[in-house]
Amino acid sequence: MAIPLHQALRVGAYVVKQHLLGRKRYPLVLMLEPLFRCNLACAGCGKIDYPAEILNQRLSVAECLEAVDECGAPVVVIAGGEPLLHKELDQVVQGVIARKKYVIVCTNALLLEKKMEQFKPDPYFTWSVHLDGNRDDHDKSVCQEGVYDRCVSAIAKAKAAGFRVIINATLFNNADPERMARFFDDVTEMGIDGISVSPGYAYERAPDQQHFLNRKATKDLFRGIFSRALPQKKKWQFNQSSMFLDFLAGNQTFHCTPWGNPTRTYFGWQRPCYLLGEGYAKTFKELMETTDWDKYGTGNYEKCADCMVHSGYEATAVAHSIKNPLKAAMVELRGIRTTGPMAPDIDLSNQRPAEFVFSRHVQQAMEKLKHEKKKPEPVEPAE
Ligand code: SF4
Repeated sequence: MAIPLHQALRVGAYVVKQHLLGRKRYPLVLMLEPLFRCNLACAGCGKIDYPAEILNQRLSVAECLEAVDECGAPVVVIAGGEPLLHKELDQVVQGVIARKKYVIVCTNALLLEKKMEQFKPDPYFTWSVHLDGNRDDHDKSVCQEGVYDRCVSAIAKAKAAGFRVIINATLFNNADPERMARFFDDVTEMGIDGISVSPGYAYERAPDQQHFLNRKATKDLFRGIFSRALPQKKKWQFNQSSMFLDFLAGNQTFHCTPWGNPTRTYFGWQRPCYLLGEGYAKTFKELMETTDWDKYGTGNYEKCADCMVHSGYEATAVAHSIKNPLKAAMVELRGIRTTGPMAPDIDLSNQRPAEFVFSRHVQQAMEKLKHEKKKPEPVEPAE
């Protein structure tokens, strides 16, 4: 596991404290999306097809830091959209670090070399570069040639400048286990500090609906990848708990913990999770207290049927590891099992049917903007 020791200890202490306080639901990672605009248009993305009026909006520095304070999670992941298009992102990052919280900025790296000098390396700060595979695979995934090479160049520059850098890879059903395993070798050779990996969530608004993975295919794919680690190569370091990786390989039956990664966007606090926008709360407290959590998760809701994404299951895996430290240590020591029977999956027979609510909050926001006549906040020009 590549999570730095001080981070693992602080987050572990936070989780133990929540359990001692008897809190049934608590946040682990705040997903902060200060804007939706992006300078890429990936086929598997469910975030970028908002009307231009919405894409032009962003959360201010004060709104971002208010969300960090309200939520209280020890880790803040800044995603989007492309966060580096936010002109004051450096101030948001500084504010999070000043609060002694770990901040990870997810970026497609197109603006990273240009804007890197606005940021300083810090034990609380990590760049997470989106890289879905080797040159061919990644450029196909982001629908633009040359992006892989720009990522590799930006990673080298960030590492040379002393930053902690991980990559985040989202996998679809066209991922080939052998190619992915060799890609993990390549990024490990580049000297990155960790790999964050997840199956893609089947966003209903994503332009490409053909390549999302179902749960069985996800487990087979991850077993295929993990079984191809070569002993003569440097060991892959994941920026995720071993228990979550064990879940991806089909060895754990976990239920989703959607409140573990609460999400704050321009629309408010998103219900129920980072992946589904089925209503918004004005405050974090309102989100936690008024969301009907039992309506969501695999087995409860059709839209959750195939989900094995880290934003729903990493918090489950961390809580499970804390409750079962010996089991977690064994997985860490022995590695992920890639053969033998899989853990039983969750019964889907009683799940409620999907509701399609996307346009409701978009229409409401458009109405509000019309009345506010608020000028769009400036963003970096998209390259
Ligand atoms: S399973 Fe959990 S994380 Fe996945 S879409 Fe459903 S509520 Fe969100």
